[in-house]
Amino acid sequence: MTSPAPSVRPAPPLPTCAPAQIGPCAHCRQPTHRYGHGGNPLCPVCLAEVEAARAQK
Ligand SMILES: [Zn+2]
Repeated sequence: MTSPAPSVRPAPPLPTCAPAQIGPCAHCRQPTHRYGHGGNPLCPVCLAEVEAARAQK
């Protein structure tokens, strides 16, 4: 028990897409490139967590 899980998650990088394509992440509510081409309802941070959890199964 020497390494408790950090409770503060890093904020995702600010999206560089058009402002009209920015929306809140479906998980952490941080602004992310959500709509349009290349958009994703999850920000890069949440997406990485989902993919990491998926890879462990
Ligand atoms: Zn997120």
